[in-house]
Amino acid sequence: MREFSRLNPLPLVEVPPEARHRVVLLNDLAPGELFIHEIYHSIQGESTFAGRPCVFVRTAVCDSRCRWCDTPHAFNQGRRWPRSAVVEKALSFGCPLVEITGGEPLLQPDVRPLMSELCDAGCTVLLETSGAHDVSVVDTRVHIIMDLKCPDSGESHRNRWANLEALKPTDEIKFVIASRNDWDWTEKTIRHHHLDTRFTCLVSCVFGAVQPVELANWLLAARLPRVRMQLQMHKYIWDPTARGV
Ligand code: SF4
Repeated sequence: MREFSRLNPLPLVEVPPEARHRVVLLNDLAPGELFIHEIYHSIQGESTFAGRPCVFVRTAVCDSRCRWCDTPHAFNQGRRWPRSAVVEKALSFGCPLVEITGGEPLLQPDVRPLMSELCDAGCTVLLETSGAHDVSVVDTRVHIIMDLKCPDSGESHRNRWANLEALKPTDEIKFVIASRNDWDWTEKTIRHHHLDTRFTCLVSCVFGAVQPVELANWLLAARLPRVRMQLQMHKYIWDPTARGV
C-alpha cells in the first residue's frame, strides 16, 4: 500500500503539469454541458468512411500537442453548449453519419452520453480520439478511429496501449506519418501487435512533410497488404488551411 504524509494526504494524479494546464478550460463545465469548437457538415476525409457526407462535432480542448496538429485553434476556442442542443444541431443537417472529433473528445464526460443519444437517434457515430484515453468506456455502437501517435508527433509516450484490448474488430487505428522514422516505427508496431489482422489499419502522411508517393512506396515495400493508405481528402478538395470543412 502507498503511504502519504499528513501534509499531502491525497494520491497525486499522474498527469504532467502542462497537460493539466491544457484542460483547465473544462474545469467549470456543468453536468450536461459540452465545450464545443464547431459543428459543421462536410466530407469525411480520413477512415474507411472517407468520401461520405458527414456532420462533424468538434469538441474544444486537447491535452496533447502533436507537433503537426492541424486543429490548434480547437485548443482554447469554443463555447458551452447544452448536450441536448448539440444533438439537435447535429441532427438538423439530416445526415445520418456523425463524427465526434476534437480536440480530444474523451476529455469531456458528456461526450459519452452524447454519442449514445446520437446512436439512439439512428445515426452512425464515429469517434476520433488521440489514443491517450481509455476507449473501453465508449458505447459499443460507436465506430472508434484511434490514433497511435508516432515518435515525430512528440506524443507517442502517451499512447495507451491497453486500448488495443478494448477496441472492436470493426474499429480503426490511424498512424499519421511525418518521416521515414515514423514509418519504421509504424511498421514495427503493426507487426509486433498483429494490428493488421485485428483491426483496420490506416496510414496517412503529414500534409507537406511526407509526399504521398513516398508513403505509397514504403507501404508497398513493407508487404503489408491489409494496411490501407489514405490521403486527407478534405485538404485536396478545399484549401489545406481552411477551417470548418
Ligand atoms: S491529439 Fe489531435 S487535436 Fe490533440 S494535438 Fe494531437 S492532432 Fe491536435
